[in-house]
Amino acid sequence: MSTQKKTEKTQQEQEQQQPFNADVARLLDIVAHALYTDHDVFLRELISNAADACDRLRYDSIANPTLIEDNPEFRICTYKDSTNRTVTVVDNGIGMSKEELTENLGTIAKSGTAALMEQMKEAQGDDKLKLIGQFGVGFYASYMVAHKIDVVSRKAGSEQAWLWSSDGKSGFTIREANEIEIARLDGKRGTAITLEIKDEACEFLLDQKITHTVKEYSDHISVPIFLGAPSEVAKHKDAEAINSTSALWMRSKDDITSDEYTDFYKHLSGSIDEPVMTSHWKAEGAIEFTSLLYVPTLRPWDLFDPSRKNSVKLYVRRIFITDKMETLMYPWLRFVRGIIDSEDLPLNISRETLQYNLTIEKIKNAVARRILGDLDKLSRSDEAGFAAFWNQFGPALKEGLYDAPNHQAAILKVCRFYSTHDDGEKFTTLEEYVERMKDDQENIYYISGENLQSIKNSPQIEGLRSRGLEVLFFTDTVDDFWLQNVLDYKGKPFKSITKGNLDLGKFKDSKEEEEKYETPEENNDEINNFITAMQEILKDSVHNICKSQRLTNSPVCLVAPEEAVDMHMEKVLKINQKYQGSTKPVLEINANHELIKKLAASCTKGNDIEDAAHLLLDQANIIQGNSVDDLAEFTRRMSDFMSKAI
Ligand code: ADP
Ligand code: MG
Repeated sequence: MSTQKKTEKTQQEQEQQQPFNADVARLLDIVAHALYTDHDVFLRELISNAADACDRLRYDSIANPTLIEDNPEFRICTYKDSTNRTVTVVDNGIGMSKEELTENLGTIAKSGTAALMEQMKEAQGDDKLKLIGQFGVGFYASYMVAHKIDVVSRKAGSEQAWLWSSDGKSGFTIREANEIEIARLDGKRGTAITLEIKDEACEFLLDQKITHTVKEYSDHISVPIFLGAPSEVAKHKDAEAINSTSALWMRSKDDITSDEYTDFYKHLSGSIDEPVMTSHWKAEGAIEFTSLLYVPTLRPWDLFDPSRKNSVKLYVRRIFITDKMETLMYPWLRFVRGIIDSEDLPLNISRETLQYNLTIEKIKNAVARRILGDLDKLSRSDEAGFAAFWNQFGPALKEGLYDAPNHQAAILKVCRFYSTHDDGEKFTTLEEYVERMKDDQENIYYISGENLQSIKNSPQIEGLRSRGLEVLFFTDTVDDFWLQNVLDYKGKPFKSITKGNLDLGKFKDSKEEEEKYETPEENNDEINNFITAMQEILKDSVHNICKSQRLTNSPVCLVAPEEAVDMHMEKVLKINQKYQGSTKPVLEINANHELIKKLAASCTKGNDIEDAAHLLLDQANIIQGNSVDDLAEFTRRMSDFMSKAI
């Protein structure tokens, strides 16, 4: 402000000039000096305050009806004045006394502010804006768009009206308001806030911009918001509010059409798909809230981007608080869209403090239980819809198996897997698997790998398949991780079939079957000989070599030693650079395979089996999707072998 302007101030104003407290001054400095790309939040803050003021008077008037006898209808009006380049927001809420103006607009009572300030100091440019948006600097956000703000206010039931005025820099003044200023109020009570708009924010001098911003941020505020000065609005009996005034989620389910639900989903998410599940409910009891949540059909592109946050909107008594509260939803439900409207949370604390509120924690868990329950219902009422959901979001949901032990059982209930039962064509639940288990089967068998096609044909499955033992196929990276935490399902341990000893000996269903796995006595010595010779040749590459119970058609396969990391897990860990070592695998051989029998006989006769031993290991590696150590040697051996055979 120029010196000349300063001297123009009235005597009265100068007398009452008061400094901001230190916190406010610092905050205002940040607000004014940050470069903003998105100013819109200021209007949300002003309207939220106005709606608050209406709600408070509404409550007070229950005990003291005379407070609103001049006009029992609450409303908020907002309008521009192009000539004076101002935007005004007027409410006929509770209003503020002189003391309250000083207290509320001159100090920051919010407990989170100190922490916010710390973060602000470090943040730059856009990040600062994000912080402001995240915590809401409330009333002061208006200094992003205004170089001067006048607040005229008259407390409901009081005679005097006051003018608070500040440029957001040198402090503020308070004096009694004059007739012209009082005329800004809507009737006898409430507050009129007039912003002198900065040049760079002149877009707010357009009606469309105001309307659009109000709709975007405050559509579901229960107090009607009108475009125009109160006197004009009062003249038009049929003036229409900008906002819809009735929050969709507060209406009874029976009164909402499926189109309305879908439109609201699209409005919230900005997506074009239809939700696969809509979950609308009111929680009553210890905590009270209403939630309207949707599961999309399409997976957002950034579902697995670690920086993706949940975007469920938090409302408190119909007032939008934030859509960036990380603590509101579990990260494994980050695909859920919608709103949660709490009846219990306080409105007058910063969003930062709010996110650690115990009520938020309770809502988070209640919502998770509800969503999991609804997904379970969906899985039974709409199998195809659920399968589509599972393909898109199953991997994210399974993160909950290690992230939230208290929801593990409910998550396992909705988990779907492919298995040998339908040869990887149809999903199965763990419940169904357990029902199909053999009488003396203790374990839930699984194999994990990169994709269904490759693990479906794994040699390790052969022996289980032929014994009628079902094997689950795990193909999501997350599977290898949750298996470290979830050791069993209903007391049945998960057991990898590519690791350690399987002990399938007891599962024999017929005489012929049995014979397939028994090594004829006369071959026993030859096979043992052969294994000893192989072990010597391959000692640098394998942990050990043994006769397999897993194989029926293939001559060899690899498995991880009992105490080691499972084979696919080791690959996953290596890709994520969480694992350096390299475990030597166990090479299992099929003693009943023609090739093995012939090689064993040949070995016993004293023939050289060096090339054959290497080739067997190489093929076991190839089918496992591993690379062959020495490709040149491999092709040489292969050619030699083939030419000998011809
Ligand atoms: P918050 O709303 O989080 O408390 P604000 O900075 O938005 O923080 O507002 C500070 C305080 O100023 C409010 O708590 C309220 O007491 C008062 N206030 C702001 N605007 C109004 C209004 N339109 N009517 C009545 N009181 C208001
Ligand atoms: Mg506020």
